Amino acid sequence: MRTVLMVAEKPSLAQSIAKILSKGSCSSRKGLNGACSVHEYAGSFQGQSVRFKMTSVCGHVMSLDFIGKYNNWDKVDPAELFSKAPTEKKEANPKLSMLKFLQVEARGCDYVVLWLDCDKEGENICFEVLDAVQPVMNKGGVREQSVFRAKFSSITDTDIWNAMNRLGEPNRNEALSVDARQELDLRIGCAFTRFQTKYFQGKYGNLDSSLISFGPCQTPTLGFCVERHDKIQSFKPETYWVIQAKVFKGKDSPLVLDWNRVRVFDRDVGQMFVNVAKTSREALVESVSKKEKTKQRPQALNTVEMLRVASSALGMGPQHTMQIAERLYTQGYISYPRTETTHYPENFDLKGALKQQANSPMWGEEVKALLSSGINRPRKGSDAGDHPPITPMRAASEGELGSDGWRLYQYITQHFIATLSQDCKFLQTTIDFIIGPERFSCTGKTLISAGFTSLMPWQGIPLEEALPTCERGDTYSVDEIKLVEKQTSPPDYLTEAELITLMEKHGIGTDASIPVHINNVCQRNYVTVENGRKLKPTNLGIVLVHGYYKIDAELVLPTIRSAVEKQLNLIALGKANFTQVLQHTLDIFRRKFHFFVDSITGMDELMEVSFSPIAASGKPLSRCGKCHRFMKYIQTKPSRLHCSHCDETYSLPQNGAIKLYKELRCPLDDFELLLWTSGARGKSFPLCPYCFSNPPFRDMKKGMGCNECTHPSCQHSLSSLGIGQCVECEGGVLVLDTTSGPKWKMACNKCNVVVHFFEHAHKVQVSQESCESCDAALMLVDFNKTRCPLPAGETQHTGCVFCDPLFQDLVELKHATMRRRGGGARRGGRGRGRGRRGNPRKPKDKMAALAAYFV
Ligand SMILES: [Zn+2]
Ligand SMILES: [Zn+2]
Ligand SMILES: [Zn+2]
Ligand SMILES: [Zn+2]
Ligand SMILES: [Zn+2]
Repeated sequence: MRTVLMVAEKPSLAQSIAKILSKGSCSSRKGLNGACSVHEYAGSFQGQSVRFKMTSVCGHVMSLDFIGKYNNWDKVDPAELFSKAPTEKKEANPKLSMLKFLQVEARGCDYVVLWLDCDKEGENICFEVLDAVQPVMNKGGVREQSVFRAKFSSITDTDIWNAMNRLGEPNRNEALSVDARQELDLRIGCAFTRFQTKYFQGKYGNLDSSLISFGPCQTPTLGFCVERHDKIQSFKPETYWVIQAKVFKGKDSPLVLDWNRVRVFDRDVGQMFVNVAKTSREALVESVSKKEKTKQRPQALNTVEMLRVASSALGMGPQHTMQIAERLYTQGYISYPRTETTHYPENFDLKGALKQQANSPMWGEEVKALLSSGINRPRKGSDAGDHPPITPMRAASEGELGSDGWRLYQYITQHFIATLSQDCKFLQTTIDFIIGPERFSCTGKTLISAGFTSLMPWQGIPLEEALPTCERGDTYSVDEIKLVEKQTSPPDYLTEAELITLMEKHGIGTDASIPVHINNVCQRNYVTVENGRKLKPTNLGIVLVHGYYKIDAELVLPTIRSAVEKQLNLIALGKANFTQVLQHTLDIFRRKFHFFVDSITGMDELMEVSFSPIAASGKPLSRCGKCHRFMKYIQTKPSRLHCSHCDETYSLPQNGAIKLYKELRCPLDDFELLLWTSGARGKSFPLCPYCFSNPPFRDMKKGMGCNECTHPSCQHSLSSLGIGQCVECEGGVLVLDTTSGPKWKMACNKCNVVVHFFEHAHKVQVSQESCESCDAALMLVDFNKTRCPLPAGETQHTGCVFCDPLFQDLVELKHATMRRRGGGARRGGRGRGRGRRGNPRKPKDKMAALAAYFV
């Protein structure tokens, strides 16, 4: 029997789709990576009996990156990133072993059906999956189609079965357009980001950002926020005057009238008008007009509108909204939430979707009324040809969706029903008055029929007091006429909803990427989200945008990006060539980059005003190994160490406290050692600031402390303080924390494991000897006489922390020890032959090791 492999984008989708296609009769098992499941059932495919195997990936399988050496910020000129640096696709999340998992499941399969989400990213993942599975699948006949693509917009029985019955092929061009965007963003973004981060972080101490990023899309997004900020800053309020008149007739409450001249900017002129108006004590009704007006029901919902409303009315940020919407889609409550379309296709089952809502306690009445009176065809919208508008696919209750899920679902459903309802109708009445020679008017609205606004009350006509009935020629008494002074007010900061509108209007970002870009500018500390989801740029955000403007306005303006996105769309449509678009765009940005580098002083002048030079920041902490002067510790994120004499900056581990480590020095370079601690209960390790930034040995990476340093003769190194292999992770070594007494501990140098032992011991040392049975270093422990746990007056004991029966009760490690034993990690069983050397703890012969390092 032949086997059909089917792959969805997420585990939960695979499960839902398999349940539908197998009519609930599939059997499921976990895949080898623990994250994905495989659902199997028998069925028929292309007229033959087959075995179906439905599984999934977890989003993108691969991600694009430069090949290894080009990831080194210090050794590579960022200009090389535009063309010279080769890129490669790496597994997006190596922990998931997705490639291996796909290949294991695909081996021996005959057909593959791709159930990835139906957007460009999904199309791109299709080809990532194909690259992985095709080499291990059975080869069919030459003419036989073995790759199929399912197209669907919601996880409902109808949609999924329709997709299964009308399988097509994946679209290579759409996938290529995603490849092109990834490569452009990587090359352009990395080049600019690396250059300016290194340039400015080496110069300014209180620059509060670990990454000064540039993104071809992210930067114009920030540009919009700063543009508004500039308008606010340069705004000069102006004073103006309006005439306010109150009139009344009989016992009616007075009417407040609007002046037909609206306002004047000269006080004396205003006063003159008041004076002439005041000559009359009567207001004459010159005309009364009544007009029936319509407020149109909304167009069907697309992504951008959903994000706008979620931000302005529900207070939910775009990224969060998208996550919630995707969950609702995955669980089958709504159709695919990434769409530009606002038009329902002719064959869309609107009634079917509406019927689902007939029993709702919230809007069931309206729905039933609609179903019996007949639905109103939705307004014509635009059809992007991707998916139907966002539509509720089945009924839900607050309990099953959770708070935010329910609020979003509620809005989507109300919006959907509203698109099928009648327009709202109201009567607009305007009464025109004459007081002396001046004209005034007042307007009121009365509801005729609520239409869709009964579902979207926030769109409704506010309940105003209906205007009194009156006719031409009636007269009112003037109660009061006065001149009121007012001021023009500045614009406010952009709201998220306004930013989304701007991005859409200028064609930067797509429905899929708008939330990501907005999130990025917030997370990178260029913009903060204020009350009412207003976006206020930070000092850094402002300086950056002003700097780009000064050097090359096109780096901030949305024009180039939107031109690039148009090109990408042409690739997707098969109308433009992938390589040409890529070459052309990189060419432009390479030239822009060189000009930017040459003109960087333009931005620097702005930075100088806002930030203080690095030499003036921080406080003295430890001595430099080169000039033996004190270096300054700069605490602002990212914390650094700066020697103003040598003009060098050294990075430090983040998110913890840094202090001087007993004035000890690194034997390799003479820099004073520092101690990093993550808090009283957490880990700590000594480090040399020079080695941390410039690893002394080839087998060390940047950012390692002495607990990972393999220096053979240094008393703080892994070689001297390592005890044995970690009990939890592979490759980690437990290292004695010599600063931790009297609450002694050892901590893994790779993972989070911290092991407490020998409480109240006076002295704990790592011996040269190792354990006979497990190869761990023996420990020399010297207990306090008064609180010694050892029998019969002994105060000293040497033994293995894992094996020694005397030590066993003094080590907080019992379950971990069991795991280690159970795992068969006996003498050298684990680690030997893997990693650097047999015993990762220390080389046996120091001189031999030293010799090896310095050849
Ligand atoms: Zn120095
Ligand atoms: Zn060092
Ligand atoms: Zn070291
Ligand atoms: Zn570990
Ligand atoms: Zn042992």
